[in-house]
Amino acid sequence: MIRLGAIASLALLVSCAAQPVADTASAPLQSGRDYHTLANVDEFRVRHLALDLTVDFDARRLAGGADLTVERIAGAGRTLVLDTRGLDVASVELLAPGAAPQPLAFSVGAADAHLGAPLSIALPSDLAKFTLRIRYSTRPEASGLQWVAPAQTAGKVAPFLYSQSQAIHARSWLPLQDSPQVRFTYEATIRVPAGLRALMGAEPDASSGLDGVFRFDMPQAIPSYLMAIAAGRLEFRPIGGRTGVYAEPEIIAAASREFADTEKMLETGESLFGPYRWGRYDVLILPPSFPYGGMENPRLSFITPTVIAGDRSLVALIAHELAHSWSGNLVTNATWRDFWLNEGFTVYLERRIMAAVYGPRRAAMEDLLGFQSLEREVATLPPAEQILAIDLRGRDPDDGMSEIPYEKGRFFLGWLESRVGPPALHAFLQDYFAHFAFQSISTEQFRDYLDARLLAQHPGAVTPAELDQWIEQPGLPATAIRPQSDALIQVDAARAAFLAGARAPADLPHAAWSTQEWLYFLGNLPESMPRAQLDALDAAFDLTHATNNEIAFNWLSIAIRNGYEPAWPRLEQYLESIGRRKLIVPLYSAMMKTQDGAQRARAVYARARPGYHPITAASLDAIVGAP
Ligand SMILES: [Zn+2]
Repeated sequence: MIRLGAIASLALLVSCAAQPVADTASAPLQSGRDYHTLANVDEFRVRHLALDLTVDFDARRLAGGADLTVERIAGAGRTLVLDTRGLDVASVELLAPGAAPQPLAFSVGAADAHLGAPLSIALPSDLAKFTLRIRYSTRPEASGLQWVAPAQTAGKVAPFLYSQSQAIHARSWLPLQDSPQVRFTYEATIRVPAGLRALMGAEPDASSGLDGVFRFDMPQAIPSYLMAIAAGRLEFRPIGGRTGVYAEPEIIAAASREFADTEKMLETGESLFGPYRWGRYDVLILPPSFPYGGMENPRLSFITPTVIAGDRSLVALIAHELAHSWSGNLVTNATWRDFWLNEGFTVYLERRIMAAVYGPRRAAMEDLLGFQSLEREVATLPPAEQILAIDLRGRDPDDGMSEIPYEKGRFFLGWLESRVGPPALHAFLQDYFAHFAFQSISTEQFRDYLDARLLAQHPGAVTPAELDQWIEQPGLPATAIRPQSDALIQVDAARAAFLAGARAPADLPHAAWSTQEWLYFLGNLPESMPRAQLDALDAAFDLTHATNNEIAFNWLSIAIRNGYEPAWPRLEQYLESIGRRKLIVPLYSAMMKTQDGAQRARAVYARARPGYHPITAASLDAIVGAP
């Protein structure tokens, strides 16, 4: 997944401060234990799932059956416990070949604020391997699904459904062991209204047409947070032999132009990190309400349309989601404490793909922008939130999604690379992906493997104390390697000349600036600026009407903190048309700092909220107040 951004995660911290912290938080933390599942994963493991679901847009429900094939791995207990959140379970049956389905007793326990409710199923004996059929339906408010009204789509004629299962939202649309350490294969039949297309992060049956019934097969075992479903008025356009784009007809041409380098990125990834193990790599463009930049659902990344800039300037997002095909989807964090193994590694791989495909100049700029946002995060987050292997017991794991697992994880690997040399680290990572392929590992397992397979060959390159400091301590170690970008040094000079009044905006070397240079120019302007300078910038570059969503975000942030009213209509239009949290939560937070801003924030939020994803609305309710 792509990160939220600094201010957004702070807002989440505020929102979770009111939640009670479970008493487990004071006990010693057990490495590899998943504190975010209620399922008895130490006794049973789900191995295969066969789904048959009907998508009911009118009722905003998925309804049907999930057949779970389960294996006992320990003990002789007769109760299987699964994770659910807000599911209406109608029946549970034991399926056996040649016998009638046998109804089983089941109960849904009390719901925990973060974890949902346990579904306990009574087994008739100490079965070693069995298949259960659970008939159930989801509720309209399921946290892992968004039911998008036609008006909120590009075409405005048909509804759209999509899932976001990470971190622990799969349980709101599937009864299963919702833990990243349980991997299973699956098959599915999905029924949608005729004319719409269903998609999953799986291989579609070639014979599926637009007759309303779609079949999928997922032969590679995945963890539950990678379960993904979407349905809408969707077309497909190929990019290369193994890559393509799904999008609404209105945006498919722009999307396939924007992401035309995807096949090249895939080939680059294979050459750097080892074979691509998932068959195809397609992307699905979601409506603008998608709360994240992207989600690395296997074979089919879900992507925000806000990165379609027209000039491929924001495609690092695709490199990121693709890189998860190795770090995350292939080698998976065992628990949400180990999330940095997914994201820090992925940002590191993302920058290597970007350097190989677009050259080191662009990658260095993106690296420095990432380093700066990490520095800002470290300056504002409480110390306990700055630890790579973060303790998230008693909290929603989504709260751990700051720049720390992403950029601090990336710069940890950069530091390691500087100590052992790039060839050694690159070879180590290829071995790591091959060795732990299709497994889920903890921070400690990574460290053991690092010691045995890399550090043993480079004695003295790093000390255990240094590793502890990076992984277990807050802050950004002084040994971090700060990225160098000559291009951005020139932007610093141009900005300084402008601020000193030595250069008019029109005389800046802006014609040669890429999006990254603009982001760096705007992102490093002073907190407070004279109105005349804002007027001059806007007059020269019409920043208020910038169509690049990242540039617009930076300019609107500046406008809010300086009370620059000419940007207000654009700000409102931006907040009403986009639901990506990284781009809107910080804007709302900034508006809430003044009385006048808060009033405008509440007014626009009342209009925009119905179009936001439940995850986004929950964050913003805590900041702006529920209307
Ligand atoms: Zn990610």
